Amino acid sequence: MIFYGKQDVNDADIAAVEAVLRSDFLTQGPAIERFERRVAAYCGAKYAVAVTNATSALHIACRAAGLAEGDMLWTSPITFTASANCGRYCGADVDFVDIDDATYNMDADVLEQKLAAARAAGRSGRLPKVVVPVHLAGQSCDMVRIHALAEEYGFTVLEDASHATGADYLGGKVGSCAYSDMAVFSFHPVKIITTGEGGMVLTNRADLYEKLKLYRSHGITRDPQLMTHASDGPWYYQQVDLGYNYRMTDIQAALGYSQMDRLDQFVARRRHLVARYNELLRDLPLRTPHVMDGAGPSWHIYIVRLDLTKVKKPKTQIFAEMRARGITLNLHYIPVHTQPYYEALGHRPEECPVAMQYYKEAFTLPLYTLLTEEQQDGIVAALKEVLA
Ligand SMILES: *Cc1c(COP(=O)(O)O)cnc(C)c1O
Repeated sequence: MIFYGKQDVNDADIAAVEAVLRSDFLTQGPAIERFERRVAAYCGAKYAVAVTNATSALHIACRAAGLAEGDMLWTSPITFTASANCGRYCGADVDFVDIDDATYNMDADVLEQKLAAARAAGRSGRLPKVVVPVHLAGQSCDMVRIHALAEEYGFTVLEDASHATGADYLGGKVGSCAYSDMAVFSFHPVKIITTGEGGMVLTNRADLYEKLKLYRSHGITRDPQLMTHASDGPWYYQQVDLGYNYRMTDIQAALGYSQMDRLDQFVARRRHLVARYNELLRDLPLRTPHVMDGAGPSWHIYIVRLDLTKVKKPKTQIFAEMRARGITLNLHYIPVHTQPYYEALGHRPEECPVAMQYYKEAFTLPLYTLLTEEQQDGIVAALKEVLA
């Protein structure tokens, strides 16, 4: 059975993990900072904070941005639910900005209109404190425009770059935070590089960096500068805010550091397979991905959209027939605003019509670095049969 994603762990990765297991520190040791420094340097960001996963990364990023009850967070409906849930963890309300029909990322035009409408409505307009653009499939959102809107409307930009480790945007790396306040990566095994479970927040702002470190570890500090009064002695620490235990282990960080050796190779391999898919699928009744000028996707996933004027077979049947041929399709994502949890908060499908149409047409084909060209040819042949 071929699944949609899979990790790529080699002997060097295993040796790196083994070395930590034989060392003095399994957690809170030197491997964390080493990994953070490497990812920050790779992206061209000043600071990085490694945590347990991207979900906790999004949570502490929202806390660092000061998001709280009575505030608003806006994100894309075509994402994993964590991009929205981080707002709810902070007691904030969540709203959704419809996607662009070509890239499936948050539509900057819709964002601009929604901001203008909220401002025109005055105090009740509920402008967002945090906006979370999600780089779907590893293709950057239109960050230049989102950044310009942030300047105009004063919100914090938190990139959910869970799919986009190693991706390029306008000559820089996604994660550089050139057009945002913070960016988050996920190191789940299906993502671009893995630490088993893991995530990271990147930022260029020293104030946010200090808060992120505090929230990662219980709100506790040993830094005299951050304490309310002089230290009682060498044992002393203070809890100055309410934080969590979201620390990554050194075992995970060593794996991540070792995986960074191959990040560019991973992305190159994914780009190669995507170019092949685009070519092999050319004559099928479906839309292959569109890449915006200036974006160099890392291709976490390969999404296609059926031409429903030509394909009459229901998607459930397409999935079943592919499964019978040993291939598991997937769908990224069910529009988040239609999830029962968000529906109960008052959201309705028609809020994001472009996302709803996307949901009818889209599905994800398997894509990972260890997928062979022969396997890929088999996937394409199976899809041709199923769609014939
Ligand atoms: C995977 C993912 C997350 C959550 O990542 P975890 O590391 O599993 O917590 C958040 N947002 C998006 C868009 C993701 O794909």
